[in-house]
Amino acid sequence: MTVGTRSGVRVRGLTRVFGERTVLDGVDLDIAPGEFVALLGASGSGKSTLLRALAGLDGEGGGEIDVPAKRAVVYQEHRLLPWSRVWDNVVLGLSKRGLRGRDLRARAEDALAEVGLSARADAWPLTLSGGESQRVALARALVRTPDLLLLDEPFGALDALTRLNAQALVADLWAEHRPAVLLVTHDVEEALLLADRALLLADGRIAREYAVDLPRPRSMDDPRFVALRRDL
Ligand code: ADP
Ligand code: MG
Repeated sequence: MTVGTRSGVRVRGLTRVFGERTVLDGVDLDIAPGEFVALLGASGSGKSTLLRALAGLDGEGGGEIDVPAKRAVVYQEHRLLPWSRVWDNVVLGLSKRGLRGRDLRARAEDALAEVGLSARADAWPLTLSGGESQRVALARALVRTPDLLLLDEPFGALDALTRLNAQALVADLWAEHRPAVLLVTHDVEEALLLADRALLLADGRIAREYAVDLPRPRSMDDPRFVALRRDL
């Protein structure tokens, strides 16, 4: 794994084998700096395995991975520390990276403001709704100013209305900060709503690829959206 030489992603021939099962069987993937890519695939097809490999959170397998140093992951479960207040969850670990004092405070305040949770900085995670918790997880990612944002079904546990709001928030944050994004999802509409490209992971490889050539902001009612959705 090569880290920090680029602000996009380059993967070649990635393999991951668990026991008898070859989950990733030669994945090639490029994500340009600032590009928003959705990764679709059936449950168990290896989407999270691929995302974990890009995050550097699994052991070594075969193949080459080249990713930016500044990466941030948001999971389906928000994974906030329940015994730390929202503020502390957001700034956790940042002082280790040399960010302190006023700089750290200003950046964390900005991140919480961007997700609309300035007023909840002192709250305990257990008092937040699912949507709010996920926004804190996004703030925790944002405050690290990632070049690559890895999102593993981040809206999967949210109710329909909260999900729409969270999707709109991610679209706004991406437009504002322009990290490269890999969004793992099994929701075709979500992929078309947010991404520049949608990839389909099947049989351990990127089996299909679709350019999502629609203007932003996107509407699910747009006839072009409906047509693309039918193709996928
Ligand atoms: P997806 O995210 O597409 O649902 P995953 O990447 O989570 O799929 O899992 C793909 C397959 O790899 C599954 O069969 C899963 O059980 C297996 N798998 C994932 N991680 C491990 C692991 N650490 N050890 C053993 N098997 C694993
Ligand atoms: Mg998964």
